[in-house]
Amino acid sequence: MTHRIINFSAGPAVLPLEVLEEAQRDLVDYQGAGLSVMEMSHRSPHYDAIHRNAIEGLRSLMGIPDDYAVLFLQGGASLQFSMVPMNLMHPARKADYIITGAWSKKALEEAKKEGEVRTAGSSEQTGFDRIPEASELDLDGEADFLHFTSNNTIFGTQWKSEPEAGDVPLVADMSSDILSRPIDVSRYGLIYAGAQKNLGPAGVTLVIMRKELLERAPESLPTMLGYRTHADKNSLFNTPPCWSIYMVGLACRWLQRQGGMEAMEKRNAEKAAKLYDVFDNGDFYRGTVEVASRSPMNIPFRLPSEELESRFLETTKEVGMTNLKGHRSVGGIRASIYNAMPPENVDRLVELMREFERVSG
Ligand code: PMP
Repeated sequence: MTHRIINFSAGPAVLPLEVLEEAQRDLVDYQGAGLSVMEMSHRSPHYDAIHRNAIEGLRSLMGIPDDYAVLFLQGGASLQFSMVPMNLMHPARKADYIITGAWSKKALEEAKKEGEVRTAGSSEQTGFDRIPEASELDLDGEADFLHFTSNNTIFGTQWKSEPEAGDVPLVADMSSDILSRPIDVSRYGLIYAGAQKNLGPAGVTLVIMRKELLERAPESLPTMLGYRTHADKNSLFNTPPCWSIYMVGLACRWLQRQGGMEAMEKRNAEKAAKLYDVFDNGDFYRGTVEVASRSPMNIPFRLPSEELESRFLETTKEVGMTNLKGHRSVGGIRASIYNAMPPENVDRLVELMREFERVSG
């Protein structure tokens, strides 16, 4: 039998076993084509079907309207920190950013290189332990866009509904909660996400954008950095990350078999509640974020001492669990339980936490 550890990594993260097995079956000979997806031309009929299938999968799962483009790009979510302002910070050359963690700060720093950037809200003062209230936001109605990070991978907070941006296009980094719940795409100007947490393997970055925004970019942009280049060629302007896109297509089909976005939201909430219940019904484990802002994807917590945290991590390793160490910038423990984390593995963690508390508490 295949040996699989229980992987709580924040990304690249666990993929559905069914998806990996499907890819394995087709690895050497893709459906009788006699070659692997990794070896086929991106202009071949086989790949064309794979590419269209991945786009269609996303469109139907997320209910993406026809006036939105779906793009497969490279360079990770980090390149989007630059591409978004390069393409969209026009004509006013100013943008608002809401700062809820390290990733939104990085996004803001890149945007500063393109124009005037304002912090329209922040939870930095309280150590990014929450999502700011609507009443705390100070939005510029003339900004070219408003940027926020829907789920904060490091700090474990999530927006429960998007900020009200009025007529200003809303831009969201959804790298760590894309496809985890239903969203109304029509409320957004642009959504981007690196694939390697909730969508598939690293190497492809999803961008979903309102087509009218394609017209904003200046002609002087380097060709590869313009969204229009990729939209005009259906993400086949140059060689796309074919294998990663193929895997995204398989992950979409898996999500459809699970019942789509409503079912995933329910399943994700149930998984997360099991861990949050441990914090709320005892004082050994302590959640680090405000209850109303808790993320169902990344769940950071502390134990009474760093020494106990080290022992806890050792214990998890002994039973085949990995990647539970908190991000190096915040310490503690972090369990990332994206879509593909089976509920029974969350149960195993909860059992282990209770047992560790019993013997150490
Ligand atoms: N945004 C968020 C919310 C993330 O969690 C990450 C990666 N952990 C990034 C951006 C950066 O993504 P990439 O490594 O794909 O550039």
